[in-house]
Amino acid sequence: MSRISIIGMNRQQVRAAILVLSFILMSVTFAYISPYGMMVGLANGVIAAGLIFWILAFALTFVFGRAFCGYLCPMGAEQELTDRIVRIDLRTVPYLRYLKYLLAILWVGGAVFLAAGAGGLILDPLFGMGSGLPPWPAATYVFFYAVTVGVFVLVIVLGRRGMCNYFCPMSVVFMAITTIKDRIRIPSLHLEAESQDCISCKKCTGACPMSLPVQEMVEAKTMQNPECIVCGNCAGACPKGAIRLAWFWHDK
Ligand code: SF4
Ligand code: SF4
Repeated sequence: MSRISIIGMNRQQVRAAILVLSFILMSVTFAYISPYGMMVGLANGVIAAGLIFWILAFALTFVFGRAFCGYLCPMGAEQELTDRIVRIDLRTVPYLRYLKYLLAILWVGGAVFLAAGAGGLILDPLFGMGSGLPPWPAATYVFFYAVTVGVFVLVIVLGRRGMCNYFCPMSVVFMAITTIKDRIRIPSLHLEAESQDCISCKKCTGACPMSLPVQEMVEAKTMQNPECIVCGNCAGACPKGAIRLAWFWHDK
């Protein structure tokens, strides 16, 4: 499937609309998906909404790839909206990319450590959220605004999707699952390309919000990159229709 159409909108327009909505709702949805709230919950022996959310998001990656990053993540939305206002190419910072792997080890390892040390967990999705509806407790807003400003600064300093590329610990888990499902070829959302149709215009590379070398991937016939967020921008930008999103794998 290379295109989707909802009330006359193409894939890129639908994605942009969802990202804008995700950004507008960020101050509300943040409390339910907070990786920080999840850790505070585990420290208190509680399965909070954040833990349930992230387990679900990671499980769905086996089918939808990193579509959460490409279509729904409020932090991804903030980065892409910032990118549309002040387009800054991703800066290459040697070794900084390893930071997100370190943060992922601390986040996942910390969660396992806290869960194991809790001596039993109770289910309380609304833990730390008062009535479960906004306004949230003050500490939640402090963390929310700190992260929001931090993400903006990362895009300004590091460029397009700077947080995804260098800092996001959740992205590492998404990448690991994407690598597994691509290796064993689970029917799932992924990129495919017809390299013989490519005219090397590099419009796909320029359109990639993750700054991946898409044209080189097409040429090398290796479209599976765990950093790919299956946004479909490259497919939409290609004048020859050489790239498409697919659910089923087609041997070349
Ligand atoms: S390679 Fe294509 S689908 Fe993947 S992130 Fe880049 S533009 Fe999106
Ligand atoms: S946009 Fe299409 S034709 Fe141009 S380099 Fe990318 S795959 Fe090739």
